[in-house]
Amino acid sequence: MINEERMKLKLNKKIVSQYHSPAQIARVLTEDWAKRMSYCPNCGSVLTNYENNRPVADFYCQNCREEYELKSKKNAMGKKILDGAYRAMLKRLQSNSNPNFFFLNYDLQSYEVTNFIVIPKHFFVPEIIIPRKNGIPGRPNYIMCSIDLSGIPESGKIFYVKNRREKPKETVLKNWRKTLFLREEKKSNLRGWILDIMKCIDSLGKSEFTLRELYNFENALSKKYPNNKHIKDKIRQQLQLLRDKNYLEFLGGGKYKLA
Ligand SMILES: [Zn+2]
Repeated sequence: MINEERMKLKLNKKIVSQYHSPAQIARVLTEDWAKRMSYCPNCGSVLTNYENNRPVADFYCQNCREEYELKSKKNAMGKKILDGAYRAMLKRLQSNSNPNFFFLNYDLQSYEVTNFIVIPKHFFVPEIIIPRKNGIPGRPNYIMCSIDLSGIPESGKIFYVKNRREKPKETVLKNWRKTLFLREEKKSNLRGWILDIMKCIDSLGKSEFTLRELYNFENALSKKYPNNKHIKDKIRQQLQLLRDKNYLEFLGGGKYKLA
């Protein structure tokens, strides 16, 4: 059983024998693996490749039309994912035309996938898109960007494979459905508040917590939103929304529980 699972995590080295550039090898290996082993987290269907060099996405679902872009990284997962042009990325976020992100992390020694996650597009807000310092050679004004994984709540990192263990498909689909309500909030500044409260809850590191514990974030949040004089009201309002969307349960007496 374990061996079978390990086999599934293997990248197929045979298909890259004619390539020499490490970037190209990584691209071909990880795309091949994702095509064989992933599925649409929204509906469970198989995914289809877009033609090469399409600027927006790498895969799409013929059944529900969700789009996915694949990024990969060897060895450790790290906190940042390198992405394309900074301004283009911000523009895509504003128009809600960004795809979902697959992020694949593999071990260069064993050629095995160590982590594979999907980040739903509704977790992307401008603040997690970080401009890189320098432009590309010859085009100093062309600024590239990174995606700051640490700025995304845990519920926005849905694992297919975590530390070389595959998650059941029904878990992936269930985790995907859990935060789809965020798409109803088209404006990224309003969605930002919900995501901030999700991150505050994450940082408590437990599934049950009190309103008082969340009020402890009042200072940090008022630094981020200096014009808002009603931070506590805002916290309570987001908690109610998260309850209405079945992300949280109210236990009474100022106690809450992650659903
Ligand atoms: Zn689908």
